[in-house]
Amino acid sequence: MKTSRPICARLAAAALRHNYRLSKQQAPQAKAWAVVKADAYGHGQWRVVQALREEADGFALLEVENAVALRDAGIAQPILLLEGIFSVRDARAVAEYDLTTVIHCVEQLEMLMLTVNPEKRLKIYLKLNTGMNRLGLTATELPSVLETLRQRPQIDLTLMTHFADADAERGIAWQLNRFKAMAGGWRGPVSLANSAAILSHPAAHGDWIRPGIMLYGASPFADQAAEALNLQPVMTLQSAIIGVQTLNIGDRVGYGGTYTAERQMRIGIVACGYADGYPRHAPSGTPILVMGRRTRTLGRVSMDMLACDISDIPQAAIGAPVTLWGDGLPADEVAISADTIAYELFCALASRVPVDWAPT
Ligand SMILES: *Cc1c(COP(=O)(O)O)cnc(C)c1O
Repeated sequence: MKTSRPICARLAAAALRHNYRLSKQQAPQAKAWAVVKADAYGHGQWRVVQALREEADGFALLEVENAVALRDAGIAQPILLLEGIFSVRDARAVAEYDLTTVIHCVEQLEMLMLTVNPEKRLKIYLKLNTGMNRLGLTATELPSVLETLRQRPQIDLTLMTHFADADAERGIAWQLNRFKAMAGGWRGPVSLANSAAILSHPAAHGDWIRPGIMLYGASPFADQAAEALNLQPVMTLQSAIIGVQTLNIGDRVGYGGTYTAERQMRIGIVACGYADGYPRHAPSGTPILVMGRRTRTLGRVSMDMLACDISDIPQAAIGAPVTLWGDGLPADEVAISADTIAYELFCALASRVPVDWAPT
């Protein structure tokens, strides 16, 4: 619903396609799953699927219901269930709708094998636990699973794993070594790389990459800006100033009065709060743009509003445009200030925020 309250999330389809193509250029031999889980990291699953419909090699998400909805909407590309199946019903849907499913534990495999007719062709991503210790088969479990699968010739098998530290010092070599040791002489397809590995570890590109955050134009690295990686922001969260106050020395701002004016200042009240998805923990000093000029937030973020310093932007009055993150202000910077990551900012975008979206 369009509202007259000035907040809006503007989404750029062109940026999304640019970022997807960039992931493909990084790994030219590989195909790329467009990861659209979590409602496409808060951008809207349907919008992102629509924008990438012509060019995505496949779409990866979590819920069978969403996968089936994509099939019903005519999406013909492979669709990958990143956490695999949760029920016998899911197992049936995998076969019926030609979904590709992760199998990360023996229980899932048994459910799938017992449910689906052995003549039916199945596409399985066998997930190996190489040290993240979240999901995946262990080296002990793997041989008997592979034996079970060998008895079902109608299976397209890909081996996959997930990196815990592709963006950080520990790197991926240790997990890649475990993967190779577990996979033995495996010559079939492999899928290893998230955004961080796509951008920094060519050795791990494999046959299918899995770009997530980079599609949405944020950096997977704490120490590298998205722009330096040639990524373009997809979401710009914008609003406007709806109130102006003048503070004297000693005046405090907002709930708890956590910011105290040290000089006379002008502050702008922005129509954006934590109920819109802005992080409540963003402290005073978090960057924000007013009329395209960079300034800082002041005091606590409340449910529907936050305050910012407009002392040095005298033209800023009621109605002045504000950018919370996006074009001109990387979400990563706001995230770092709020002690979180851009992934969380995007996913937290509230449903009450109107979205401005043109698919072309
Ligand atoms: C979410 C997810 C990705 C994408 O990760 P990014 O860091 O956003 O690129 C890749 N692989 C798996 C298994 C995931 O769950």
